[in-house]
Amino acid sequence: MAQDWHTQAERMVQEQIAARGVRDPRVLEAMRRVPRHLFVPEAYRSSAYEDHPLPIGHGQTISQPFIVAYMTELLDLPPDAKVLEIGTGSGYQAAVLAHLAREVHTIERFPALAEAAQRRLEALGLDNVTVHVGDGSHGLPEHAPFDGILVAAAAPEVPVALLAQLVEGGHLVIPVGARGMQRLERWTRRADGFHREVLDAVAFVPLIGAHGWPEDDTHA
Ligand code: SAH
Repeated sequence: MAQDWHTQAERMVQEQIAARGVRDPRVLEAMRRVPRHLFVPEAYRSSAYEDHPLPIGHGQTISQPFIVAYMTELLDLPPDAKVLEIGTGSGYQAAVLAHLAREVHTIERFPALAEAAQRRLEALGLDNVTVHVGDGSHGLPEHAPFDGILVAAAAPEVPVALLAQLVEGGHLVIPVGARGMQRLERWTRRADGFHREVLDAVAFVPLIGAHGWPEDDTHA
């Protein structure tokens, strides 16, 4: 690294994240503490703290730092939270969540990505994260309910199976829409039903699975 990673992470937090309106000090601190360069392939290490997503293999990407921070803030986790992430990818988002929650479960459909993420999380001593392999569009009923659910891949519509796994007051944050172009949505479970907020335009890789897109659908 040309520059100490802490310096790069601090600049990332100030210029890309705080400057765009993420205010929660716990989220900003978590973004400072996770060494993002350890979650990207060697070839991209020097651009790990830059303002864009990066390829991580299998046609997948690690999200832009701002998006990770913004979605984490939208979860608005209580202390001692139990969280579910769908789409582990590199494990970076899970590492950020690990600094804010008591218990993190994350699901990835590609075993090789899940294994690499698990190794990184273990090496960092983040032992409150469990990586699962499978179709995360079903959620994780055996560990439900969750205080927050973050979906890091885009679905054609909100998987009802996930809504059912939220505690009352809990939030589900998910990109919803067509392949290549979606809106971020936040769903909140209330005593009398679900409240939906439609937020920013985003572009995530597709959620492939029973409550997502079919694997071979390349036309949408
Ligand atoms: N959060 C990740 C980035 C995720 S990219 C990070 O911090 O690096 C989206 C990931 O979702 C990809 O790794 C993709 O393989 C995975 N994915 C897509 N559909 C899935 C499904 N149904 N269940 C679990 N993982 C899925």
